[in-house]
Amino acid sequence: MPKTSSRAQSPTVYDVAIVGSGAGGGMAAHQLTKAGAKVVLLEAGGYWDNSSAQYSAMLKMPYDSPRRGNSTPDRPFGEWDACIGGWQIPGEPYTKAEGTKFDWWRGRMLGGRTNHWGRISLRFGPDDFRRKTLDGLGDDWPITYDDIKPYYDEVDRLIGIFGSRENLPNDPDGIFHDAPAPRYYEHLVKRTADRMKITCIPARLSIITKPLNGRSPCHYCGQCNRGCMTNSNFSSGNVLVLPALRTGRLTLLTDAMVREVMTGPDGRATGVAYIDKKTGEDREVRARIVVLAASALESSRIMLNSKSSRHPNGLANSSGVLGRYITDTTGTDVAGFIPSLVDVPRHNADGVGGGHIFMPWWLDNKKLDFPRGYHIEVWGGLGMPSYGFMGGIQSYPEGGGYGAGL
Ligand SMILES: Cc1cc2nc3c(=O)[nH]c(=O)nc-3n(C[C@H](O)[C@H](O)[C@H](O)COP(=O)(O)OP(=O)(O)OC[C@H]3O[C@@H](n4cnc5c(N)ncnc54)[C@H](O)[C@@H]3O)c2cc1C
Ligand code: SF4
Repeated sequence: MPKTSSRAQSPTVYDVAIVGSGAGGGMAAHQLTKAGAKVVLLEAGGYWDNSSAQYSAMLKMPYDSPRRGNSTPDRPFGEWDACIGGWQIPGEPYTKAEGTKFDWWRGRMLGGRTNHWGRISLRFGPDDFRRKTLDGLGDDWPITYDDIKPYYDEVDRLIGIFGSRENLPNDPDGIFHDAPAPRYYEHLVKRTADRMKITCIPARLSIITKPLNGRSPCHYCGQCNRGCMTNSNFSSGNVLVLPALRTGRLTLLTDAMVREVMTGPDGRATGVAYIDKKTGEDREVRARIVVLAASALESSRIMLNSKSSRHPNGLANSSGVLGRYITDTTGTDVAGFIPSLVDVPRHNADGVGGGHIFMPWWLDNKKLDFPRGYHIEVWGGLGMPSYGFMGGIQSYPEGGGYGAGL
C-alpha cells in the first residue's frame, strides 16, 4: 500500500515528532525545545490546563457536584477527576490471552497519566541496576546508578519533589523540597514502625513546598486528583508541555491518534501518520526524528503497525520480542479499625493529596513466596466528607444495608 499518497501532509519538516504528551513525551518536548529544536507533539487526547477553572475542579465544594461524585464514561473516578481516560476507551479495544486478566488503565489527554498518578517519585537504587547479580533473576542493567544520578538530579530541580535526607543504602536521597509534617494518624504509624524496627520515612512526592519556576508552593488542599490550579504538583501538561509551548518552538496537535511511523527507502523514520479525531482525516507530519512516548503498550503497538519492506515485522522488531514479556507493577490494600484513633479531638488533618509517610522496601524478604519486595503507603485521617462519600454503602452490612439495619 502506498504510504503517503492519499494523506494530507504537513508542509513543515520538524526536527522531532513526539508521540504522546505524558511523563515521557512531555519531558522530551520540554528538553528538546529548550535546546532549540523545532518540535511537533501529537497527543491522542484533548487539551487540558490545570490552572484554568474550565478544567480544574480544585476549588469546588462536594455539594456542588450535580452527580454527587458519580463517575462519567470518561472519568471513572468521578466527574471532577482530572484524568480523562479509563479502563475502556471508545475505539481502542484490546484483547487478553484466554484465562488471563489485565485491566489496562489509560489516560487520553494532554499530560497522559501524569494527571492521574500518585506522584510518588522514587529513584532506583544502586542494587536495582544489578538484581541478577544479587538474586539471579532477570537481567542486570547495562548502566549503574551513578550513570543516571545526574539526570535524576536534573529532574528533581526541574519538577520539584519533597522528601527527606535519610542515607538509606538503596533508596537514594534526591534534591528535595522540605516534606510536610506527618498527620495525626501518620504519627501513630511512625511511632509503631519505629518500635517494630520498620523503616518509615517521609513520603517523596512530586509536589513543591517552596516556589519553583513561577509555581506556588502547595497550600495543602488535598485535591491533587482534581487538577492543581496553582501548579504545585507535577503534571506533564502544566509543568513541561505548556512551558515548552511558550518557547514558540513547539507545535501541539491534540486529538491526533498516531497509527504508524513512516520510514523512507533507507528504513529510517521520516515522520508519523495519524488520524485527526475531530475530522476523521488521515494526516501525516514529517520529521527527521520520531520519539514514541505513547506509553509502553501503545508505543509497541505503533511499532508493530509500522511495517515496511525494510521492517517486515514492524519497527525495531528484528528479534521478534517487541510487545512480549510485559511486566507490571501491582498493588493491593488492607484497611483496619484503630481504637486509639476514635474520638480524637477535632483537628486540621489537611495535607497534600497523598500520604506524608511511607515504608520503603526494608527487608531482604527471603521468607516471601514471591521474589523481591514491596513498599507500604499509608492512608487515612479526618477529612470533610467528599463527594462520593459513603459510596458502596448499600453493600454493608453483608447482604445489603438499608433502614434500621444500616
Ligand atoms: C493509578 C496509577 C497511579 C500511578 N502512580 C504512580 C506513582 O505514584 N508514581 C510513579 O512513579 N508512577 C505512577 N504511575 C505510573 C505512571 O503514571 C506512568 O509510569 C507514566 O505516566 C508513564 O508515562 P508515559 O509517558 O510512558 O505514558 P503516559 O503518561 O500514559 O502518556 C502517554 C500519552 O500518549 C498518548 N497516546 C497514546 N497512544 C497514542 C497514539 N497512538 N497517538 C498519540 N498519542 C497517544 C496518551 O493519550 C497519553 O497522553 C501510576 C499509574 C497509574 C495508572
Ligand atoms: S494538595 Fe497541594 S499540590 Fe495537591 S491540589 Fe492542593 S495545592 Fe495542589
